[in-house]
Amino acid sequence: MSNNTRDMLGRKGLTPVDEALNILLTSLEATPLRSETIPLYETLDRVTATAIISPEDLPSHARSTMDGFAVHAADTFGATESMPGYLRIVGEVLMGELPKITVERGACAKISTGGLLPPGTDAVIMLEHTVPIDETMLEVVKPVGVGTNLIAIGEDIARGTPALPVGHRLRPQDLGLLAGLGIAQVTVSHRPSVGILSTGDEIVPYTTTPPPGKIRDINSITISGLVKRAGALVTDYGIVSDRIEHFLPALETAVAENDIVLFSGGSSVGMRDLGEQAIESLGEPGILVHGVALKPGKPIIIGLSENTPIFGLPGHPVSAMVCFDFFVLPAIRHLSGLQGRDKLPSPVIKAVLARNINSAPGRRDLIRVQLTKKENDWVAEPVLGKSGAITTLSRAHGWFLIDEHSQGVTKGTPIEVTLYP
Ligand code: AMP
Ligand code: MG
Repeated sequence: MSNNTRDMLGRKGLTPVDEALNILLTSLEATPLRSETIPLYETLDRVTATAIISPEDLPSHARSTMDGFAVHAADTFGATESMPGYLRIVGEVLMGELPKITVERGACAKISTGGLLPPGTDAVIMLEHTVPIDETMLEVVKPVGVGTNLIAIGEDIARGTPALPVGHRLRPQDLGLLAGLGIAQVTVSHRPSVGILSTGDEIVPYTTTPPPGKIRDINSITISGLVKRAGALVTDYGIVSDRIEHFLPALETAVAENDIVLFSGGSSVGMRDLGEQAIESLGEPGILVHGVALKPGKPIIIGLSENTPIFGLPGHPVSAMVCFDFFVLPAIRHLSGLQGRDKLPSPVIKAVLARNINSAPGRRDLIRVQLTKKENDWVAEPVLGKSGAITTLSRAHGWFLIDEHSQGVTKGTPIEVTLYP
């Protein structure tokens, strides 16, 4: 191990989490984002590459929001149960057609929810507030104001106003808005492609029975799941040995073919130089961060080969996933064109800690928790166990952080738990 590496991985040489993230995201700022224009029905969870301005008024005609009668509001003023008003019924608005009826003062037309208001009418009186006298005469027992029970032209969204901002992840309701506006093609950011490798002479595919001394590959499938959840595309380059002559060409291929590359393993003493050496040999700027003040996750390596970020995730499955959430996810979000880089990756809920937890100052501790509802509170029970144990993640509903300055958190403290999606 080089002196340099030893210094970096001592407590003193560790980069604080926020600083490491800042170094990473700043270095990605220069990376150009690519976009593509695709059919609306394929855009769920994609990210807008441009702001979208409404090309038309929605609705394009005033529409009724009730079953009733389209009226001139002024004709109903003063109408009550004891002093009803009377209107001539001159016809019915048919659904899906421009109304041809002329509704003069003192007249009205039958209308259903969604029907277009005949010219001149400016309100709809609910069926329940009328009493039909016969086919041609209506008794009105309640007044309506102008604009009542209708949606006006452009009231939903007016032509020329912003519909969606740039860098926005498209949700089902956003697709609905675009459909309502007739926007059938959308320009979205390119989905980043992520290449993943597992390193380690002891790692074998999970489909095999490991001979003595070997273990099944947990990280490839976990990390590819995380990548997919993040909305990126994954290519799995399989398991490679710890030997530089095997590892370097595999890493090189992955870097050439992807926007982001992740390898797991290689964090143990003696192996640390391997990841560093490989990243450094892939060109400038090389290593950005090696070792962060985070537990689990301390030995992470973050590097850059031209515009391609390379992450050396610790081999422990728990550490690998934590590092993914803290560093890889923000990089994927950034390269996906999402805006708001400081946003938390997942929803947060308030909970109360179920027991005391100690923490060493000088590093950020991530504590996995299970949540149970007790009366009105969510109670967070820490999931204890070695940081290498995958069950600690599988059992956890989420996690909370104990910050660098704290020596621990006492039972009953209100905390914010980030949920695993
Ligand atoms: P390393 O970072 O290579 O020193 O690995 C730390 C620990 O994680 C060691 O016990 C490894 O055997 C284990 N490990 C490394 N890669 C994987 C993997 N892909 N799946 C499961 N365990 C792993
Ligand atoms: Mg290893």
